[in-house]
Amino acid sequence: MIRVIYPGSFDPVTNGHLDIIERSSKIFDEVIVAVLKNPSKDPLFTMEERVEMLKESTKGLKNVEVDCFSGLLMDYAKKKKAKAVIKGLRAVSDFETEFQMALMNKKLNNEIETFFIMTNSKYSYLSSSLVKEVAKFKGCIKDLVPQKVEEKLFEKLK
Ligand code: ADP
Repeated sequence: MIRVIYPGSFDPVTNGHLDIIERSSKIFDEVIVAVLKNPSKDPLFTMEERVEMLKESTKGLKNVEVDCFSGLLMDYAKKKKAKAVIKGLRAVSDFETEFQMALMNKKLNNEIETFFIMTNSKYSYLSSSLVKEVAKFKGCIKDLVPQKVEEKLFEKLK
């Protein structure tokens, strides 16, 4: 049984994240989508809202669970008995930081691997922060986030 963790801020979840979650759920037995409580970031949505939007968007995927964590990812992964961490890669700019993080995580726990999944070309330019920026100015984000997330975003930014 291979359980993996897909960590991130998910502020809010986008179709790019969902594409990675769906593809991971076809390869691994269990996927835990883990929302990071990061004190150095100032998120638009609360932890509860981010978890709720993820749960709603992944409810059709039976082997996907949504959780949250704080502290070191490797400590959380060990606690959850996960064998690996999933990261999505959009561009070379992602690679630099992800490469550094994967090596640090390997140093912290040699038993847990990092798997990189290449973005779907449709979503290669998509990020939560860009979606928030466009929504702030009432731009169209229809194909970029699930409909419920779109509604919550416009409601929040009203
Ligand atoms: P962001 O980088 O947009 O703020 P997160 O921190 O929530 O988002 O990202 C969580 C994970 O999802 C990271 O591994 C990130 O590289 C990946 N990811 C984010 N957006 C996409 C996308 N459009 N396609 C593929 N992977 C993505």
